[in-house]
Amino acid sequence: MPVRFYNTLTRAVEDFTPLQEGTVTMYTCGPTVYNFLHIGNLRTFLFEDLLHRWLRYRGYHVRQIMNLTDIDDKTIRDSRANGIPLAEFTRIYKDAFFEDLKTLNFTPAEVFPSATDHIPEMIGIIEKLMEKGYAYATDDGVYFKIAAFDGYGKLAHLDKDALRAGASGRVANDEYEKETVSDFALWKKWSPADGDVKWQSPWGEGRPGWHIECSAMSMKYLGETLDIHSGGIDNMFPHHENEIAQSEAATGKQFVRYWLHSAHLIVEGEKMAKSKGNFFTLRDLLTKGYSARSIRYLLYTTHYRKPLNFTFDGIKGAEAALKRIDDFLFTLGNIKTVGAAGEGMLKTLAEQRDKFEAALDDDLNIAEGMGALFELIRTVNDGMERVTKEFAERVIEFFSGIESVLGFLNLGAKDELTDEEHAMISERTEAKKGKDFARADELRKLLLERGIEVRDTPDGPVWKRG
Ligand code: AMP
Ligand code: ZN
Repeated sequence: MPVRFYNTLTRAVEDFTPLQEGTVTMYTCGPTVYNFLHIGNLRTFLFEDLLHRWLRYRGYHVRQIMNLTDIDDKTIRDSRANGIPLAEFTRIYKDAFFEDLKTLNFTPAEVFPSATDHIPEMIGIIEKLMEKGYAYATDDGVYFKIAAFDGYGKLAHLDKDALRAGASGRVANDEYEKETVSDFALWKKWSPADGDVKWQSPWGEGRPGWHIECSAMSMKYLGETLDIHSGGIDNMFPHHENEIAQSEAATGKQFVRYWLHSAHLIVEGEKMAKSKGNFFTLRDLLTKGYSARSIRYLLYTTHYRKPLNFTFDGIKGAEAALKRIDDFLFTLGNIKTVGAAGEGMLKTLAEQRDKFEAALDDDLNIAEGMGALFELIRTVNDGMERVTKEFAERVIEFFSGIESVLGFLNLGAKDELTDEEHAMISERTEAKKGKDFARADELRKLLLERGIEVRDTPDGPVWKRG
């Protein structure tokens, strides 16, 4: 079965085939760099990381571009409020963004272009739209004429009445609601609120609208027709609708073949958003003592089209789930019993591997994929006394293979004990042999205080740091 995705354009799950065999072009709307990433942003970026990793697992060469929106209404507003020049202000959040990607073990995109480095490309598209009659200049800028583009509304499924009502109006803001659908700004003439932020253009000094930025950067790096374009569902309208209009009007070609959107991360029923102030950054959660791994696990393992209600119990649940996987791999890694793997066990491994892969092929159903992994863990744990080193290695090999997709396993973490700690473990074993359980228990506690957990297996004691 081929990989299948839910395409927002058609509202249907479709087989995925890239335009060019073996290579996928993928554009993901990146962060607006006026604050630290909140975990709502991360939810969308992690869905895109899964998308990238799964396509790679299926043998595709993935060319992902993720832009940085370093010029828009919000970056200007906040850099001015803080009295810091725009480039200096956005630099702080660009650096923080890259640090956060590293902390969460993201697969980097091929290029992370900044909007401010692509103003000439944006002007080039606007000129083309002017020539073709899709755009017009006004006192305050240049606008896209939605009535001139037949396909306007095809992504967000706008109704014709809304379009007729909107065709008379204009909107200069980057963000607006479906109810106020209107001609939108491609270029905004300088106004005092912009401070010293301005570029020269054929229509006077000013700056680009937000939407044209992504059309320019995606087509520059990936060509006029992309395989995949993705973002959070709030990006669908107006941002992605407008990207389609600008790009297709300019090139006369289909802009994107598969549109993928993730549902929101919500807090107590509301979208987590910087503007609402109800957000947690990655940094907030790390400061509270949660691990990057558990945050990755939590945001990564809910199906991307299902809203995810963020709770602290949810992160604690993620920590418990990871511990279960860690313990399982740890136990397997310490098995020394020789002998061939049993048929039944091998069958279970093959079945759950197939289920995992089938789930991910089916519109990245990671929740079901994790279900298959836990089913495997449960079955093997139940028969652990029969597990041989050979079988254990097969299971570990499988987990190592899918770590390229998951990115949150704790494989092969090596940690050494001091001589004293080794001696304590040996003394504990001897104490148990001599039935001095009080001393054995005391040593177990002393080791625990040092964060070392000792467990007895048929092959002798094994330890790990908790
Ligand atoms: P922004 O920095 O606002 O441009 O957003 C960057 C990405 O995060 C976009 O793809 C948004 O759709 C996405 N996003 C913003 N808020 C949320 C949220 N609460 N849940 C999921 N994705 C979000
Ligand atoms: Zn974008």
